[in-house]
Amino acid sequence: MSSNSTGTGPGAASSRTGPRTVVITGAASGIGAAIAEAFAAEGDRLALLDRDARGIAALAARLADAAAVTSHTVDITDADQVRAAIEDVVREHGGLDVLVNSAGILTEVPLAEMDPATWDETIAVDLRGVFLSCRHALPHMVAGGGGRIINIASQLGQKGGEGLTHYSAAKAGVIGFTKALAREAAPRGVLVNAVAPGPVETPLVDGLSPDWKRAKQAELPLGRFGRPEEIAPTVLLLASDPGGNLYVGQTLGPNSGDVML
Ligand code: NAD
Repeated sequence: MSSNSTGTGPGAASSRTGPRTVVITGAASGIGAAIAEAFAAEGDRLALLDRDARGIAALAARLADAAAVTSHTVDITDADQVRAAIEDVVREHGGLDVLVNSAGILTEVPLAEMDPATWDETIAVDLRGVFLSCRHALPHMVAGGGGRIINIASQLGQKGGEGLTHYSAAKAGVIGFTKALAREAAPRGVLVNAVAPGPVETPLVDGLSPDWKRAKQAELPLGRFGRPEEIAPTVLLLASDPGGNLYVGQTLGPNSGDVML
């Protein structure tokens, strides 16, 4: 399930002052990949999780000079796979300091045409997946003295989007989950936040209709979708010490139309 793609060799003890071990789900593409590149530039150790084995292997090879990187092929909806991948990370890297949940799927389907299987799959990846990775990472973070969790939600979880009831419900769920877990985990040294981007130019939005994209673009003050590398700095801030300390259980919204773009 996992492979170490560097010669530098993980295994050093997790440290709050040295390089952090950062787990990123959905790291093969888009926002997750940009976040991985940003943490690699900080010299952190990375564990890339995705169901796209070739995608994370390619990214790991690209980042190998900058960081200690391991790749873990995992379906984020599968509890056993997620638990095993997190255990591999802790064993191979010696701990786990930061978890970024970026795995996600999106389809545009009016409710009247929504197949229950489509609803269930979206909730499974976009909400259950966040639950599972947090569920299995949290005890290791607590045992290691603390950590940071950053969940990638969406503006659609706050505003809703037509043709996206399933996705909007899942992302609203991620925001509620984040706030609840923040209360539960902060006293144990783990700070939990969400980032809620507006539309970002990634393969995820390829499936949206031209009408949907045109209407969305017209709402954005800068007149364009965000770029993955514009999301990463907010995630780095929330993972930073002490920069992220003031934000606990918050939902920040880069490129949201409300906040920055
Ligand atoms: P993307 O399609 O580029 O990347 C998503 C990644 O998740 C892919 O690598 C994919 O293989 C992985 N993934 C999907 N299902 C998985 C599963 N079952 N198990 C493991 N991995 C799985 O999309 P993106 O735009 O980078 O999206 C990243 C996150 O940002 C998602 O949670 C998405 O909902 C959120 N988001 C995206 C936008 C946007 O406009 N692109 C806006 C707001 C929020």
